Amino acid sequence: MLREKLKQKIISEPTECMAYLTELVKSNRIYNGEVLAIIIDVIKNGPYQLTNTQWDALLDKGLLPDFYVECDSCEDTIPWSEMYHAIFIARDHYCPFCRYLANKENTRLLD
Ligand SMILES: [Zn+2]
Repeated sequence: MLREKLKQKIISEPTECMAYLTELVKSNRIYNGEVLAIIIDVIKNGPYQLTNTQWDALLDKGLLPDFYVECDSCEDTIPWSEMYHAIFIARDHYCPFCRYLANKENTRLLD
C-alpha cells in the first residue's frame, strides 16, 4: 500500500525526505497550518519523534495524494531529490529514467 511504503521511505531516507519537505515549505506549497507545523518539526528534529496522530496528518493531509507520487510510467519510486521536479516543474510524474525515454521519443519525432 502506497501509504505504508511512503512512511517507510520517510523513515529510511530522512535526510533526502527532509530536503524535499524544505523545498515544499520554501515554495509555499503547504496551506494546512497543522501540516505545516508538523513538517517544520520533521525538518528540525527528524521523523522519529512523530506521534501516530502526527503521522496520520503528515501522510494523509500533507503528502498524499498530491505531494508524493510514484512514476506514472513504470510505477517505480521517484527519488526524493527528483520529487519536486516531477510534480511541480516537469509535471509528468515520471522517474528520471522514464522522462529520459519520453524525451528521447519526442526528440525523434523531429527527425
Ligand atoms: Zn519510471
